Amino acid sequence: MKKILITGAAGFLGSHLCDRFIKEGYHVIAMDNLITGDLKNIEHLFKLKNFEFYNHDVSKFVHVPGDLDYILHFASPASPIDYLKIPIQTLKVGSLGTHNLLGLAKEKNARILIASTSEVYGDPLVHPQTEDYYGNVNTIGPRGVYDEAKRFQESITMAYHTYHKVETRIVRIFNTYGPRMRLNDGRVVPAFIGQALRGEDLTVFGDGSQTRSFCYVDDLIEGIYRLLFSDYVFPVNIGNPNEITIKDFAEEIIGLTGTDQKVIYKPLPVNDPLQRQPDISRAKEILDWEPKIDRSEGMKRTLEYFKSLSEEELYRSEH
Ligand code: NAD
Ligand code: UDP
Repeated sequence: MKKILITGAAGFLGSHLCDRFIKEGYHVIAMDNLITGDLKNIEHLFKLKNFEFYNHDVSKFVHVPGDLDYILHFASPASPIDYLKIPIQTLKVGSLGTHNLLGLAKEKNARILIASTSEVYGDPLVHPQTEDYYGNVNTIGPRGVYDEAKRFQESITMAYHTYHKVETRIVRIFNTYGPRMRLNDGRVVPAFIGQALRGEDLTVFGDGSQTRSFCYVDDLIEGIYRLLFSDYVFPVNIGNPNEITIKDFAEEIIGLTGTDQKVIYKPLPVNDPLQRQPDISRAKEILDWEPKIDRSEGMKRTLEYFKSLSEEELYRSEH
């Protein structure tokens, strides 16, 4: 049985990756320090013999006994609210954490895939964003702690590939949504759905003309799976190119939830990118991948998940 280590396993994407690799017959070693994740996302796997969980901060030395075939490094705060609250940990997990996991990959002769992000493009001056675009990031702005950690992560990953011949893969993930997002992580999908379900007005930041392109989680996981088993070492964008303004997205959620809430406007966060849309030509060509689940279907499934949460969870607020 092949063994795979998944970091950030108790988070949104990590938990879906655990499910996928369990389904494919792997022995999954899940690692997380629970700083933004929740064991609830993976507790259904605890009873399985081919699943283990390590509560560990990957910014500290990482040890895993025995053989290891693959590593997926997904540990990192991922929402602006999270990484603004824990900026140093964000920088550390992207830099020291990635260094530790690349060292582990080298020692075990394992293939490693790291989770990069569309944030490496910053507030992009090229639209849609191709992998060849170098980006427009404010190193010392509030989002710099995340963006620069991820840019460093890509650089050290390529260096380990070039100088130590480690088998590496880099996925640049664009805004992804679905079940198991944390209701109050501040990202726009759980924020708007939570507000609609609680009967609150939806808070659009800025004038709402900024755009995002939302990918349903199952599509993303399929893209990551294909990339891991491809022989392509350069970064690959995975996302859904269907772009929408945040204002229109708020209206769409009001329509979907059948509520009569209003949209209210709040200040735009500093350095909030004005537009974002992946160019996925590379993923299409190399991985024969493209998203299959459109926003109306994906949002329906996501809404079902949020509706299944208890009243207590719906009204719990950490921020
Ligand atoms: P998430 O917050 O739900 O999950 C991240 C997980 O990493 C959490 O369980 C957290 O506890 C864990 N973690 C953080 N620091 C850690 C550390 N030092 N040691 C061990 N565990 C640690 O976020 P997510 O949306 O699932 O994002 C997962 C990865 O995907 C991140 O690397 C993120 O940057 C990347 N990504 C996500 C998106 C998206 O739209 N969801 C977009 C681009 C990139
Ligand atoms: N946003 C918003 N209202 C909210 C939360 C977010 O208008 O309650 C906006 C945010 O300013 C950004 C977009 O929605 O323009 C996407 O935000 P998110 O944090 O989900 O992702 P990111 O900015 O990292 O792409």
